[in-house]
Amino acid sequence: MSQLDASDASRVLVVEDEAEIAAMIAYQLTRRGYRVETALTGTAALDLLDRSPPDLVVLDRMLPGVSGDAVLKSVRSNPATRGIPVLVLTAKREEEDRITGLELGADDYLAKPFSPRELVLRVEAILRRAQGEARSDSGGQIIQSGALKLNLGAKQVTRDGDELPLTRIEFRLLRALMGRRGRTQSRDRLLADMWETRADVVSRVQTRTVDMHVRRLRGKLGPDGNRIETVRGFGYRFRNAPGDKP
Ligand code: CA
Repeated sequence: MSQLDASDASRVLVVEDEAEIAAMIAYQLTRRGYRVETALTGTAALDLLDRSPPDLVVLDRMLPGVSGDAVLKSVRSNPATRGIPVLVLTAKREEEDRITGLELGADDYLAKPFSPRELVLRVEAILRRAQGEARSDSGGQIIQSGALKLNLGAKQVTRDGDELPLTRIEFRLLRALMGRRGRTQSRDRLLADMWETRADVVSRVQTRTVDMHVRRLRGKLGPDGNRIETVRGFGYRFRNAPGDKP
């Protein structure tokens, strides 16, 4: 594999309170040409994120004081850092743990103990995906249907010009529904689109998670909420607006 040029190497922030693990991750990523900064506490991480947002964050969930979840929440709620991909490290393989993290906006998960190779592969995959998204977003693509306008680049949804406060997951769900509107979509398909993650994670996530997000999204869409139609026993369909092309 090619080494990255130092000048355009991606910057990775590693947040991990266990110094040996932090050093191991930093060593592996530096070897691959990434520029790595390390924060041993959530507070230090928030400070670094504030001063110079990295291209990716590797975030341990179990931190003393400000937890990994709190750091993730903060990253996602701040417009300056909202789009930064986050790979969450967890000590538990619990399904609930993964779901909570994905709901908070993690891009992927890695359970400890993990191999250095696995870590590097995940980081590379997430950055590749993020760069691909940035490229396709630069065209300022917009999906419009009736009063709803979805800006793929700005990751922003407006209804009659008013911005709707959607979470990342809700944005992806609406993007999937509106992007394939008029067609019935299975819960599995919607899950894969919502998590933007690997199929083996998706397959074990319960389908009622989709129902929960659809319910919330309907509430936020106002009068357009009822355009998300339930297809019993299968999934959902986003109804076309009168002016939509078939
Ligand atoms: Ca830890």
